[in-house]
Amino acid sequence: MINLQNLKIQLFQKAEDLGADLCGIADLTTDQNWIETTYGSLCASFPRAVSVAVFFPREIIQEQAVGPTRSYSYLYGGINRQLVSITLQLSNFLQKQGYRAYPVPTSDYRQSKSFPGLQDTVAQWGPDDLEKSETELMGMFSHRFAAHKAGLGWIGKSCHLINPQVGPRLRLATVLTDAPLQADAPLPNRCGECTKCQEACPVGAIKGVPFDPADDPEKRIDKKKCYDFLEDMADVFGQHTCARCLAACPWGSKATK
Ligand code: SF4
Ligand code: SF4
Repeated sequence: MINLQNLKIQLFQKAEDLGADLCGIADLTTDQNWIETTYGSLCASFPRAVSVAVFFPREIIQEQAVGPTRSYSYLYGGINRQLVSITLQLSNFLQKQGYRAYPVPTSDYRQSKSFPGLQDTVAQWGPDDLEKSETELMGMFSHRFAAHKAGLGWIGKSCHLINPQVGPRLRLATVLTDAPLQADAPLPNRCGECTKCQEACPVGAIKGVPFDPADDPEKRIDKKKCYDFLEDMADVFGQHTCARCLAACPWGSKATK
């Protein structure tokens, strides 16, 4: 078996070789009560999460300021498929080293409808609750929370993960694991007085409230308003799409050499 320091180095190298732009390790041990209550016992049984990110090309996101566009919808699906491939291969790599590893399905607004059996709390819901699961937009596990804990960025007022290099112009995926990898340190919140995402939202879903892990997410975002707008966009584009709050974020909005 590879020693833990080399395991982390090899895991990160593998992630990069597979196309990940960022990779970090989250220590979940101090959050396990919250994880159990929110996501169930399976998720809470893993003390670490491997968080990976793939960047969106900036040009694609910036045109969403007046979007949505078909380019964004197309790329969104492509990046999700790439993330699934990355987390599948990282999971199998960890498994071959003798550890448990669970690739969390890539988050999108269809997740709770498409994969209702993957979370024990969701699995207890009956068919009548599928509508509820759609509007609650609940995934198996929060990729943003894992990414924040893994040092990839902070959770902004838009509720997106904000990375200092690209802002929210990325997509995330997570592998839950019991491999006791050395955890990375979370970054401080740098939203400050900015309210650009709040101003950009066409339906006023973002409330301009800084992230506090103790708060109900509804304090920061009206998910129903956002979801209803995404539904309207689905009538036009064939899938949920809107990224105005991504395009508005000043972090990573300009090229740096
Ligand atoms: S995705 Fe669109 S509708 Fe939803 S919060 Fe962002 S800007 Fe508002
Ligand atoms: S637009 Fe401003 S307030 Fe919103 S997430 Fe980005 S930095 Fe934070």
